[in-house]
Amino acid sequence: MKKVIVIGAGYGGLRAIENLVNNKDIELYLFDQNSYHYLQTEAYGYIAGRFDLHDVALDLKNWCNGFKRPITFIQEKVEFINSSQQTVKTHSSNFDYDYLIIATGARTNFFNFISGMDKYGFGVKKLFRSHNFRTSFEQLLYEKLENESMRGKNINLAIGGAGLSGVEIAAEMCDVIKRHSKSIADAAREVNIHLIDASDTILPGMSKYIINNTQKRLDALGVNTMTKAFIERVDSNMVFFKDGRKLEYTFMIFTGGILANNIDSDIEFQKNRINQYVCDATQRIAENVFTVGDCCEIKDKNKNILPPTAQIAEKSAEYVAKSIYGMILNHEPECFDAKVDGLFVALGGNYAVGEVFGFIKTKGYIAYILKKIITKSYYLGLKLRLNTGFNKRTTSSKGI
Ligand SMILES: Cc1cc2nc3c(=O)[nH]c(=O)nc-3n(C[C@H](O)[C@H](O)[C@H](O)COP(=O)(O)OP(=O)(O)OC[C@H]3O[C@@H](n4cnc5c(N)ncnc54)[C@H](O)[C@@H]3O)c2cc1C
Repeated sequence: MKKVIVIGAGYGGLRAIENLVNNKDIELYLFDQNSYHYLQTEAYGYIAGRFDLHDVALDLKNWCNGFKRPITFIQEKVEFINSSQQTVKTHSSNFDYDYLIIATGARTNFFNFISGMDKYGFGVKKLFRSHNFRTSFEQLLYEKLENESMRGKNINLAIGGAGLSGVEIAAEMCDVIKRHSKSIADAAREVNIHLIDASDTILPGMSKYIINNTQKRLDALGVNTMTKAFIERVDSNMVFFKDGRKLEYTFMIFTGGILANNIDSDIEFQKNRINQYVCDATQRIAENVFTVGDCCEIKDKNKNILPPTAQIAEKSAEYVAKSIYGMILNHEPECFDAKVDGLFVALGGNYAVGEVFGFIKTKGYIAYILKKIITKSYYLGLKLRLNTGFNKRTTSSKGI
């Protein structure tokens, strides 16, 4: 029996487990510091109030229990990897492994050079940060609704970073607020959304089709897009730009970059400028240590670094699971052929823009339906497993 430890129960970690669980020669351990899987890709809907907590957080014990074979879930942070002794250390104990998969993801990079951003900016890569924003924002809307004297005071929401997450948040917030303005009137109407990026366009690096159609939708929703706007510093209510401009704000969400989560180890593994593990073409950083998802640099066949997405996290996990199967049978892994199949951007309400295989291009309601099918099938897959696990646990606790 070979022991496989997976660190991190995000998109990559869960996909690795799903792809390894049917091998009877493998004993599986999943570690996460949280008790839940956070559906980050749906964070835009959670912070805008469109989705609820149960749409974005799924219990990991129930999920692990939902498989036919046992998976040991340990809710602890892994603090140290000893790759020569093949062990990982948590606060309470040491665990040995034959194969290790690091799937620790990334957190928001608030950039040291933007003074004040870590203090005043909300992130969305952790549930508590999204939740903090949502509750603070709703509280202010509520106060405006209740309190006559607060009418006429605008709420300025500044979103720093017009990549995928920034754009999705700006569009969803605008759409939800437009809908609220019918019911709670001025309290919602006095919200302005500003989407800020230092690049020449929104969604830097994406195709012209995606950029142009996303920009049109943001304009139609009334988002104030500020490109070529380099944030130099923020204080408690003002954004200061390098070119001297200023913007007064009430809330600042920062989605301008990521910093990978990595773990102390006996060997100083190579990392890039955003802390991602620099792995080889088989996703390894040591003989039996694999990396998947946002925590590592993943390149396509032309050696271009791919943007960190849930899609790539899942694909890298499937590849690594297959490699481990092979290695148990003494086959050396082939190189990972990483590529992005397509991308859909959720743009508020029932609207999205998408491109698949570089030539299928779609926008509006059809794109929204396609994106919905992708996210719903992911969610339903997890939900089914969760229900099975929950039923098993409650049945056994009743002694039936
Ligand atoms: C608003 C938003 C919208 C997005 N939209 C899309 C989209 O439309 N399509 C898309 O493909 N991608 C999208 N993404 C990106 C996507 O969410 C990430 O690329 C994806 O979550 C990466 O998956 P992962 O498994 O590498 O890491 P994560 O999902 O971040 O999971 C990492 C896990 O590791 C755990 N962990 C970390 N360190 C330790 C440790 N030391 N010990 C134990 N556990 C640890 C964490 O608790 C976490 O559960 C979006 C992101 C955001 C924020």
